[in-house]
Amino acid sequence: MSIDNLPPLREVIATHELSARKSLGQNFLLDLNLTAKIARQAGELTNCDVLEIGPGPGGLTRGLLAQGARRVLAVEKDARCLPALAQIAAAYPGRLEVINADALALDPLAHLTPPIRVVANLPYNIGTELLVRWLTPPAWPPYWQSLTLMFQREVAQRIIARPGSKAYGRLALLAGWRTDARIVLNLPPEAFSPPPKVSSAVVHFTALPVPRYPADAKTLEQVVAKAFNQRRKMLRSALKGLAPDIEDRLLAAGIKPTQRAETVGLEQFCALARQIKKT
Ligand code: SAM
Repeated sequence: MSIDNLPPLREVIATHELSARKSLGQNFLLDLNLTAKIARQAGELTNCDVLEIGPGPGGLTRGLLAQGARRVLAVEKDARCLPALAQIAAAYPGRLEVINADALALDPLAHLTPPIRVVANLPYNIGTELLVRWLTPPAWPPYWQSLTLMFQREVAQRIIARPGSKAYGRLALLAGWRTDARIVLNLPPEAFSPPPKVSSAVVHFTALPVPRYPADAKTLEQVVAKAFNQRRKMLRSALKGLAPDIEDRLLAAGIKPTQRAETVGLEQFCALARQIKKT
């Protein structure tokens, strides 16, 4: 049984000639049972506005609406997808708003009413950038309650990585600082059309009411980006330039200047961000 009375996604793609474009990170989900399953991972949607980035032909959008989302705001860069999305909007009157825009350039808040959840099968080329933006607004809690996002599996593993592991870095620190993040679904390449080269995973992030440790978001982001940019170097060299007396600040944060970034935990990185922000 279909989750709605709309045509199957293969037919939608054929009718609207939506051949996938690599430059837009287009790997479409065609199985509506799977998109409904992803939508269920987002939690209770009936009282929420959902922000979806990159709806494409609308498989996940249909999953979200069928799961009872109060409203969906779908931001899609590719104008070719608009007629297919208009058909979905007509099937769910007043519940789907589509904006033809670049998600990196749009402030979605003007179009949303809290509580808000974000759910997306992200275009891989902008996924990390969007995630870092969602995790690093100056004030916390953010406008969203949760993020349910598809990433390449390797990126998902970096998000949930523990200190000391190879995958540990900027993403794990920023996610761990202000959210609870876990992998809720693994998907093989064949789940998509066309199949990408790598496997994927859905990560669910719940916003914590307050960050685990105090720190200025911008400073913390700069510190961890620089620290892991040269992850094999000792921190006193990797962070040179951030502050003239970087060794003293590292010591004040409880970090040995000779330590490498991957051995430093979240609490110490937050302490270091506070030491650096002092100037
Ligand atoms: N949600 C659909 C699905 O699951 O089948 C499509 C997912 S596909 C991986 C990513 C989508 O994001 C594409 O539809 C693509 O056109 C769109 N996209 C790419 N860059 C974008 C951007 N900067 N802003 C908004 N949408 C973008």
